Amino acid sequence: MPLKIVTVPCLSDNYAFLLHDPVSGCTALVDAPEAPPIQAELDHRGWHLRDILITHHHADHTDGVEALRAASGARVIGAAADAHRLPPLDLELRDGDSVEVCGETAHVLDVSGHTVGHVAFHFPASGAAFTADSLMVLGCGRVFEGTMEQMWNSLCRLAALPPETQVFSGHEYTMTNANFAVTIEPDNAALISRKAAVERDRAIGKPTVPSLLSDELATNPFLRASRPEVKIAMGMADAVDSEVFAEIRRRKDRF
Ligand code: ZN
Ligand code: FE
Repeated sequence: MPLKIVTVPCLSDNYAFLLHDPVSGCTALVDAPEAPPIQAELDHRGWHLRDILITHHHADHTDGVEALRAASGARVIGAAADAHRLPPLDLELRDGDSVEVCGETAHVLDVSGHTVGHVAFHFPASGAAFTADSLMVLGCGRVFEGTMEQMWNSLCRLAALPPETQVFSGHEYTMTNANFAVTIEPDNAALISRKAAVERDRAIGKPTVPSLLSDELATNPFLRASRPEVKIAMGMADAVDSEVFAEIRRRKDRF
């Protein structure tokens, strides 16, 4: 049975995710922007945290860890590469490692770029990938620590997951991302209709996370830097994929 996944809005535009196995009653958390809304959701549902998975070291993904650990005794899991700047880890993981969470196997992918040491957690049995500030809905995280090429390679690894994968990213940045995406591909019909759907969802305050990887492949400009039609639209027909990605990212930084 797939894990039940509950989205918890935190801070101004962050998301945390609770994973729950209805059979065993086990609950895990991906990222802890702040403790109170997460604890309230746990209390409301009568769930007890067993594991806390951390994607990367930024405060808006980690500030709630210690309070939640203190309240639950949960095991805290994160990247070995980031152990020196994450809350103390009970389990350090590397790219390619697997970990059992709520009775399900999660695969660890290094998706460095936004930060070096950023990881994503893929739960193949539930068809879910937790990507935080790497792959986002119609966007990707800013490249703060890694290189553009590193971020492009990270996105390519996520793009290679099964297309029916649900992508759980860490922020509600989708409206701005959609407004930017149409400047790159104004003639992408799938993008135009998706932007309209995003406008409808956001008008009633509905989260746009998670999204389907197949929809990202069809409409997310950052995943489409290798496509000839995108290269031509950007006047970069002969450029290599990572350079096209880098130019899209630079344009978004200025947007
Ligand atoms: Zn971040
Ligand atoms: Fe973030």
